[in-house]
Amino acid sequence: MAVSKLPNEISDAILPAGAAGIVPHWIGGRTVTGKGSRLPVFDPATGAVMREVAMATAADVEAAVASARAALPGWSQTPPVRRARVLNNFLGLLNAERDALAALITSEHGKVFSDAQGEVTRGIEIVEFACGIAQLLKGDFTDQVSTGIDNWTLRQPLGVVAGITPFNFPCMVPCWMFPLAIACGNTFVLKPSERDPSAAVYMARLLDRAGLPAGVFNVLQGDKLAVDGLLDHPEVRALSFVGSTPIAHYIYQRGAQHGKRVQALGGAKNHMVVMPDADIEQAVDALIGAAYGSAGERCMAISVAVLVGDTAERMLPLLAERARKLRTGNGMQAESEMGPVITAQALERIRGYIEDGVASGAKLLVDGRLHPKGGAPFTVPGHEGGFFIGATLFDQVTPQMRIYREEIFGPVLSCVRVPDFAAAVELVNAHPMANGVACYTRDGHIAREFGRRIEVGMVGINVPIPVPMAWHGFGGWKGSLFGDTHAYGEEGVRFYTRQKSIMQRWPESTPKGAEFAMPTSK
Ligand code: NAD
Repeated sequence: MAVSKLPNEISDAILPAGAAGIVPHWIGGRTVTGKGSRLPVFDPATGAVMREVAMATAADVEAAVASARAALPGWSQTPPVRRARVLNNFLGLLNAERDALAALITSEHGKVFSDAQGEVTRGIEIVEFACGIAQLLKGDFTDQVSTGIDNWTLRQPLGVVAGITPFNFPCMVPCWMFPLAIACGNTFVLKPSERDPSAAVYMARLLDRAGLPAGVFNVLQGDKLAVDGLLDHPEVRALSFVGSTPIAHYIYQRGAQHGKRVQALGGAKNHMVVMPDADIEQAVDALIGAAYGSAGERCMAISVAVLVGDTAERMLPLLAERARKLRTGNGMQAESEMGPVITAQALERIRGYIEDGVASGAKLLVDGRLHPKGGAPFTVPGHEGGFFIGATLFDQVTPQMRIYREEIFGPVLSCVRVPDFAAAVELVNAHPMANGVACYTRDGHIAREFGRRIEVGMVGINVPIPVPMAWHGFGGWKGSLFGDTHAYGEEGVRFYTRQKSIMQRWPESTPKGAEFAMPTSK
């Protein structure tokens, strides 16, 4: 396949010499292109193939795990404070290279540059948290649990662990995993999305420059073959996954079948409830940003507005006007508010959902398939081959419709009208996905009741996208997370370590003879 010229020197940094145009694996501290097939990597703003990505074979999986296995004894025995120093160097490099990494993300994902900068910043915050690993790994100690006996607990690394990540946050979501995993003393194999694979290699290079020993962090490019290889590999002790719900469920089941520790974060259908007493201007701003930011390709995007009482009449005209005026374009152009979606297939899927919504009786107020002025098919001038679709707004959506039940993962906002707060809570709680939710209100009692009664993992009160900070941990409920622990935060430290209890006695030299009764405190 012909590969178009690389867009800038940033991407040169990720590509191995002598294999121009191929995004490689990163195994044992160096780039490897392997003998597998290649998949095109597109610039979603133009539709052009920018480069290709090397797809892992079974031999590449084996090499990545072997490299992580070889690095484990040295790294796991390195004192946590010294592991933190390497991460601290990485933190400095990430801060210095934030814009280069953000530009690389925009070139493969399409999101607007300021949004990509924000993504890198949220990743950086997890690295900052991981730099405190010495404090986070401190165990518990009880002096004198019995006469002359002390008992303490410590947390030790699991071994080789793997992360499998989605296309929509090629820097931030891997950063939910590997900084903490390696800070805890594990070695890591990352399998990023094949749609935007370069950010992972870019970060691998920065880790290398930061002084991370070869083999502690590896990148395995590929698809199902690579993922299944990691799931089935006896040396891989734990897997973190973020992606769509069906794949999350599959990963959880297959990993658990092999006795591995698994956290698998799935898809979402996030609601925002707007109460009649809410500040309508603020609620409109919040909905426009949360529904259409990153073209709706965020796991915390709001895709359902639950309009309580008379809010629909007051909000819909404003929402429709703002959706029509949204500036869609190349993510590197400063005036763009929304970029393209990830692939031509994603574009077709989203168009299909809009068709389905119309067919099932929802009222299409703004049709992103068409140009807002004139009804011609939606295109961005100068970017006719790009994967663009405009902001789309539906009213009169009901819980039976597919556009309500399923995750569309595009810039489509569905409005559901409900009579009161109780109906809003019932609606949200009945949905099988439960990643994030928001409530806009000025009533403290409603806010409190909402936070307590809603069955969703992450809740925002007058906050549309309540992605928790690094030290709080991220995770949904129900079909949005399979496993026991949330990603990052202290739950992340628990996930990447196992507890050991040590009970110790230094007996006096006088022998006391064997004891046959269950030992109790004396
Ligand atoms: P995806 O499930 O298609 O892919 C995720 C990862 O799984 C990729 O690395 C991919 O290569 C791999 N994969 C795909 N099919 C596979 C298969 N059959 N067997 C094994 N591995 C497979 O998801 P995506 O399209 O890359 O990302 C979008 C999805 O991720 C959305 O559903 C979104 O809600 C979700 N997401 C969830 C969160 C969260 O925190 N809950 C965060 C970000 C994205």
